[in-house]
Amino acid sequence: MSINNKLPMRRKFKKIRYVEYEYKLIKNPHYNEQEKVHYERQGMYYPVEEYIEKEIPQNKYKESSHIEYKIKCAYCGGVGWVKRRDAKFCCGNCRKLNYRDNQKTKE
Ligand SMILES: [Zn+2]
Repeated sequence: MSINNKLPMRRKFKKIRYVEYEYKLIKNPHYNEQEKVHYERQGMYYPVEEYIEKEIPQNKYKESSHIEYKIKCAYCGGVGWVKRRDAKFCCGNCRKLNYRDNQKTKE
């Protein structure tokens, strides 16, 4: 079967999620305002920082796209958008069913 170069095409966009870690200043859970006042009244240095830097995962999105080709499925006859221009079936199910049917006719 020859490859048809004049298949209708479309560009399919999708967003891909990935995680990036960013340093953020957050309130230190060990910091205690009353303790700090207590320390300072006694002329002592309070060693706990009010804010600490922490690595926090951030959801990020990037756009990606690929070309899809409009084909007529050799099994169900329906129209499908597929990534391969030489694909014969609209989906994996049709490919499987077609394969199964072929096996049956061989027997
Ligand atoms: Zn199909």
